[in-house]
Amino acid sequence: MDLKLNNLRVIVTAGASGIGLAVAATFAAEGARVYVCDVDKDALARMGKTHPQIITGECDVADRDAVSAMFGDAIAKLGGLDCLVNNAGIAGPTGPVYEIEPADWDRCLQVCLTGQFNCTRLAVEHLRKSDNASIINLSSAAGKFGFPNRSPYSSAKWGVVGFTKSISMELGEFGIRCNAILPGPVDGARIRRVIEEKAQLAGKTFEEFKMGWLAHASIKELIDPQQLADMMVFLASPVARTISGQAISIDGDMQTLV
Ligand code: NAD
Repeated sequence: MDLKLNNLRVIVTAGASGIGLAVAATFAAEGARVYVCDVDKDALARMGKTHPQIITGECDVADRDAVSAMFGDAIAKLGGLDCLVNNAGIAGPTGPVYEIEPADWDRCLQVCLTGQFNCTRLAVEHLRKSDNASIINLSSAAGKFGFPNRSPYSSAKWGVVGFTKSISMELGEFGIRCNAILPGPVDGARIRRVIEEKAQLAGKTFEEFKMGWLAHASIKELIDPQQLADMMVFLASPVARTISGQAISIDGDMQTLV
């Protein structure tokens, strides 16, 4: 399929590692011009070596002044904007609501939800000038199910869906599409370490523990970050020109998170 990306100008937040890195690399491989911001200087430096065609800038999406400076730099270097991928998110604290430290609650909401607002509000004036404009917001399966002991993260990710559906209705008249992606557990070194540790504690093999974890999914696989990247590139392409306001799950049809 020819996605007709032709030099699409894209900003990916938190793109120096994890899902964001797969997304940025896939856009670049499809011929897009990509700007990645991240809070981790070392990861950005590594990316500069592995993906020299991707432009990078340091930025914490929760810091409005830093976001403003990053947008100035990105728009100048890209020469405009066609797609914003609001990927930055942190796990936040683990524990029942009565034990959550208010500062930890605030930080989780500031990065996962307010960070998307901080970037989106500055993106709109540039996206309005594009004839193929879109915003893609990372939510999570925790944005459609309750997630006990992770209430800040789950609240932020449900918030992302509300934010996406609302701005889709506001920005449609400017031809800007807005969609949310809700991944299930994504494969990678970190999740494999977590499964390995939990399996050992439970006296189970890696495979046994993983299958228990995925018991409530129809397709019992961890999600490959490449699948997420491919979906985002499709959504940002003119082929997806009438897809907006959607909360798209890529989670093997999970029925619950517990
Ligand atoms: P990650 O923890 O691997 O981090 C990716 C990058 O985010 C890192 O380079 C980090 O430096 C950067 N980052 C962290 N805080 C930042 C900030 N304030 N500003 C800018 N950059 C920041 O993340 P991931 O697992 O790749 O997740 C990416 C997105 O996908 C997040 O929104 C996450 O909530 C969501 N998600 C992840 C999973 C999963 O299983 N990994 C599942 C569902 C949803």
